[in-house]
Amino acid sequence: MIMRIIFLVDMDYFYVACEEIRRPEIRGKPAVVGSDPKGGKGRGVVMTCNYPARKFGLHSGMPISMAYRMKPDAIYLPVDFDYYDAVSKKVMDLARSFADRFEQVSVDEAYLDVSKKVKDYEGALEYAKLIKDEVRERIGLPCSVGIGTSKLIAKMACEKAKPDGIKLVKEEESKGFIAPMKIGDLYGVGRKTREQLEHLGYKTVGDLAKANPMDMMDRFGTYGVLLHKYANGIDESDIIENYTVMSIGRELTFDADTDRSEDAVAAIRKLSNEVIGEVNKAGMSFKTITIKLRYSDFSEHLKSRSIKNSNNVNDIINVATELYFRNFEKGRKLRKIGVRVSNLIKYRGQKKIGEFS
Ligand SMILES: [Mg+2]
Repeated sequence: MIMRIIFLVDMDYFYVACEEIRRPEIRGKPAVVGSDPKGGKGRGVVMTCNYPARKFGLHSGMPISMAYRMKPDAIYLPVDFDYYDAVSKKVMDLARSFADRFEQVSVDEAYLDVSKKVKDYEGALEYAKLIKDEVRERIGLPCSVGIGTSKLIAKMACEKAKPDGIKLVKEEESKGFIAPMKIGDLYGVGRKTREQLEHLGYKTVGDLAKANPMDMMDRFGTYGVLLHKYANGIDESDIIENYTVMSIGRELTFDADTDRSEDAVAAIRKLSNEVIGEVNKAGMSFKTITIKLRYSDFSEHLKSRSIKNSNNVNDIINVATELYFRNFEKGRKLRKIGVRVSNLIKYRGQKKIGEFS
C-alpha cells in the first residue's frame, strides 16, 4: 500500500486573528469576539478569544457574562461573519493550491492530501512549514498543521500542534500517540457518547482500543465499530473534494415597526424558506445560522449558532426562532429582521450530511 500523507490545516483563534489583521493595536492584548457583554449583563457567548485572553481562563463557548466577570478590561468585539468569510476564502484558496486534493471542513479548517507533493516525513515537515509561512506572510494569520497518514491522525495531531505549531505522527506511532488521550478527545466522540463510554469503563482511547468490537457493535451499532477502529488509529476515509461559498441571507423590513412576536416568527418562516431555496439551488449544506434584528432606532444585533451540516429548512426556522426569543429585547420595536446561513459547503458527488449524527 502506498502511504498517504494528510495535513489538517487549522487556523488559530480564527475570528480574533482576523480582527488582528485590521486592528493591529489589539495584538498581544486579551481580546474576545462574541456577544456584547453589556457590563456583565449581556447574554450570549464567547465565539473566539485569543491566547492572551485564554491565560485568564476565557474560552470559546463560555457565557459572555462570565468572561466579562473574569476579565472586564479585555477587548470585546462584535461578530462580523461577512469579514471572516472573506478572509476564510483567501486562506482556503491559498491552502488549496498546496494540495493534491482538498476538503474544507469549516470556515477555518481543511484537510490536504499531499501524498504526491512530498517524498517522506522529512519532506512533509518542510512542506507544512512552507504552508504556514505562506499563510502568515500573505494573509497575516497563524495556523497549526497536524500531519498523519489518515484524516483521523492529522486531526488529532493538530490539537497537539496548537498554537502556531506543526505536529507529525508517523504511521507506526499512530496507535500509541492517541492511546493515552482521554476518550472524549477521540475524533467522533461527542459529549453524550463520551459519558456512555466512560460509564462502561473506557476512560482513555487505549481502553477503547482493547474493547471487543462485537460489544461495540451491540451497544452503538456501526458507529461503535467505527469508534473502535479510530481508537486503534485506523481511519481509511478519503479526502472528499469540496468547495464553499460565503453565505446566503435574506432580509425583510416590516411595513410598520413591530414588537409582536407573531410578526417576527412569520417573517423568520418566510425568510428561511427563501434562504433554503437558494441553498438547495446551489446544492450546498450549511452549518451556521444567523439572525439580524434591527430595532426602530436602527441599532442592530446579530446572533448566530452553529449546528451539524444541514440542508433542512426546519433547522433554519428552529434555530432562528430560538435566537429571536432569546435575544429580542422586550419593550422595543423591530424595523427589520434578517436570516442568514453561512459555513456553506458543497461536496462533489457524495453528500456528507449527518456524519456522526
Ligand atoms: Mg481553528
